[in-house]
Amino acid sequence: MALPNKPKGELVAVVNPEVVEHDVDVLIVGGGMAACGAAFEIKKWAPADMKIMLVDKASLERSGAVAQGLSAINTYIGENPIESYVKMVRNDLMGVVREDLIYDCGRHVDESVKLFEEWGLPIWKKDADGENLDGAKPAPTLREGGQPVRTGKWQIMINGESYKCIVAEPAATALGSENILERVFIVKMLLDKNKPNQVAGAVGFSTRENKVHVFRCKAALVACGGAVNIFRPRSTGEGKGRAWYPVWNAGSTYTMCAQVGATLTMMENRFTPARFKDGYGPVGAWFLLFKAKVANGLGEFYANGDAAKEELKKFMPYGASPVTPTCLRNHLMINELKEGRGPIYMATDVALNAFLDDRRAAGMDEKNLKKFWKHLESEAWEDFLDMSVGQAGLWAGMNIEPEKVGSEIMPTEPYMLGSHSGCCGIWTSGPNEDWVPDVQNESRSHKYKWGYNRMTTVDGLFTAGDGVGASGHKFSSGSHAEGRIAAKQMVKFCRDNDFKPELKQTAQELADEIYAPVKRYMEFKDASTASDVNPNYCKPAGMMMRLMKATDEYGGGVATYYMTSGKLLNICLDLLRLLREDAELMGAGDLHELMRAWENYHRIWCVETHIRHIEFRKESRYPGFYYRSDFPTCDDENWKCFVNSTFNPETKEWKCEKVEVINIIPTEP
Ligand code: FAD
Repeated sequence: MALPNKPKGELVAVVNPEVVEHDVDVLIVGGGMAACGAAFEIKKWAPADMKIMLVDKASLERSGAVAQGLSAINTYIGENPIESYVKMVRNDLMGVVREDLIYDCGRHVDESVKLFEEWGLPIWKKDADGENLDGAKPAPTLREGGQPVRTGKWQIMINGESYKCIVAEPAATALGSENILERVFIVKMLLDKNKPNQVAGAVGFSTRENKVHVFRCKAALVACGGAVNIFRPRSTGEGKGRAWYPVWNAGSTYTMCAQVGATLTMMENRFTPARFKDGYGPVGAWFLLFKAKVANGLGEFYANGDAAKEELKKFMPYGASPVTPTCLRNHLMINELKEGRGPIYMATDVALNAFLDDRRAAGMDEKNLKKFWKHLESEAWEDFLDMSVGQAGLWAGMNIEPEKVGSEIMPTEPYMLGSHSGCCGIWTSGPNEDWVPDVQNESRSHKYKWGYNRMTTVDGLFTAGDGVGASGHKFSSGSHAEGRIAAKQMVKFCRDNDFKPELKQTAQELADEIYAPVKRYMEFKDASTASDVNPNYCKPAGMMMRLMKATDEYGGGVATYYMTSGKLLNICLDLLRLLREDAELMGAGDLHELMRAWENYHRIWCVETHIRHIEFRKESRYPGFYYRSDFPTCDDENWKCFVNSTFNPETKEWKCEKVEVINIIPTEP
């Protein structure tokens, strides 16, 4: 029998951890696609004596959103004009995007994909007749002119179960293993003691040993991905750890940059993907590769009918665009569910059998039809096995044969991210090019460029991937490319600025702050017989449930079909303020709980910015992702603008403001 106050199985935390100090030139925080891009690129530009270190909360080989692998690279420009990529992103994100950043990503992204292939990632190719070679047979590389198998205009297919390992290895080799710290959770970025608005370091702790790490640096990249578990997930009980977005990205990017004064942008944006129900399996290959359609419970392909066209007219001009934006496609699905015409099915059976019928009609004999069928079936399963193994398990466990029955899909709980089909994030400088608008405004939070590409409004603080706001649809390849862009600029920043970082607090003061939940737990744990119930502290698990309840019910979660209002948002903000106060009293008995405690702080901050932005924007910019009942439509006349917000670390005040959207690429189709 377990003793009441004994932590269960995790590494027990001690009150006085060892404190380790590091002096580096450049600090890379995060180890995902963007950070790996930065780590790979930076050594090419850095002088030999420049010290660079990468710190990842997890293990580089399998960390971040690509951990499980992927079956497609979603951004490869190839034969397409970059302008048309910018137009696609602008349309999908309802008109409010930074076109300079998107264009810049578009002109660099293919190089990252070509590198991935050189490092060993199998990319499916077509032969001269357009036949799919599936990555199994030899074909010229992309650099040699090989033609990738496209599932859509921008996506290419890969055998990507080991995608992250393949990308991590060259990053690790470039930096050298002695410059990579794994399983160290960075808690906060630190400003310089003497230079206001200049980043000077960071502090974090090991999740494997009782050590606090304090870093001094001249420039830093924060690329810790987006945020999950900020709204109550649909899964319950023991399945609660399952979500579409990887459960280990806790909004650290947005929180840590905001806390030191970096301006945020479009934090009202969220991504509420429609995915295979319960397993959260990807739908991209089904829609694009297998050309499957969605049907409602009555068997109607509701998205293709006249009623849908009529409904979309409420959201002009976006509702009439040739490719319906993702949020509006969700809107149609939510309407079906609300009106009782659920469940919604991906008609996998119809799609797969249509392929067979086509081949049969073209005269394929039975033997070859059988072979073709096996091939199709394995592609269908591989899509899950490559990137969402749990969905394959769920199908197997529920006896689902995709060629015989359709599978349910469902809009998930909301997530925050800036590189997938979402665009919340940090306001950064665009490239130093003539075509990037030079806005006549003193404040960086209104400008489009201020010297160093992808630098935030804080000197020396850079971001990439999910961190960069108002420029979604970068995906894995674009995030890597953006990391490479930021890397080069960080070297330039260090070379241009002669600066010796000095921290405001001593290393010991910082360590005491990080370990405060452990101290609280150790001091009070014997005040009760159950370690989770105590008058002097609250446990991270309970705080997380409180957070999810507040956002779900008042902030437009699944409980209300994503509906909220000014009134509800203000209640939510009050609840979050109380939660932040109580979070100061969290107790952590082991290192895992200490990580959970700090993740909670990051989540509370991050979702608070989200709620503030939705409250400020008096319209529903993303119907299908969230709705405001008091402003139910998209109001281009008053709100076709960025919403930027800045937290002042000195006064602790927030400021929200409208910022002009400037089109660089012409707006006609
Ligand atoms: P990530 O790659 O998520 O990396 C974040 C890193 O930060 C991780 O290493 C994490 O361990 C670390 N970290 C987090 N917090 C801390 C902290 N406090 N301290 C230190 N380290 C920290 N793209 C495609 O091209 N094709 C697809 O099919 C595709 N499918 C996707 C499916 C899902 C479910 C998701 C979520 C994304 C998908 N993407 C896809 C998009 C792609 O995965 C992301 O665009 C990309 O991973 C973003 O890169 P990033 O570096 O910003 O974040």
